[in-house]
Amino acid sequence: MPNELKTELQTAVGEARGMLEDLQRLGLGEIYPDPGSILDSTSDLIASGQLGTENLMKIEADVVDCRRCSLAAENTKALCGVGHPDAQLVFIDGSPGPEEEQSGEPFAGAAGELLDRILNAMGLARSDVYLLYVVKCPPGDVQHPGIDEIAACVPFLIRQIESIRPEIIVTLGSFASQTLLQSDQPIAQMRGHWQQYRNISLMPTLHPSDLLNNPLGKREAWDDMKQVIKRLREGQDDNC
Ligand code: SF4
Repeated sequence: MPNELKTELQTAVGEARGMLEDLQRLGLGEIYPDPGSILDSTSDLIASGQLGTENLMKIEADVVDCRRCSLAAENTKALCGVGHPDAQLVFIDGSPGPEEEQSGEPFAGAAGELLDRILNAMGLARSDVYLLYVVKCPPGDVQHPGIDEIAACVPFLIRQIESIRPEIIVTLGSFASQTLLQSDQPIAQMRGHWQQYRNISLMPTLHPSDLLNNPLGKREAWDDMKQVIKRLREGQDDNC
């Protein structure tokens, strides 16, 4: 790994550690984990020169072997994500839900179908983008994974993002958006506003399952996606 990239990644891990400390100071310690336990394994990877250049399949193999948290019992159903390894656009969900757990397919069920329709309306297909989860194993009966599971799994997500290096990240729903953006703001306030994550433009938006429950949100989600299309096109124009 080039020294420049190694330094950049070490800085990113330091920033992430600071982010988690800030969240604990905000009183979100019950939602977000002990920073020391989250990022140590990522730091080890940087030191070993693996992070940033590794193949997504290697990360997937590590996830399949992973027994780092209490969800390991469900790890036969771990879902790393799916998509194009050089995607310019990455969507991040919180964790696989019951339909993904049952089918073994990422982004399955009615919410996954709605996401496909949103992608089609953007002129894209799943094979053009990458779909990722913050936590790879289904959390079972609880709605969202707990702090220890987030702590154990976030390094995989960081490795995936560093491997893909997309131009834009879209976080789906409150769990993924709040986790990546160290915020306790409701998704209704966060959505539609550009943010930065690891020097990548990030757009928080409503989760497709929220849109199934509240179809009025579709207009807002589409407004967000129009901003994403515009920025993607601007990036392509800059590269011409
Ligand atoms: S949720 Fe993540 S950290 Fe926990 S066992 Fe599954 S892959 Fe490993």
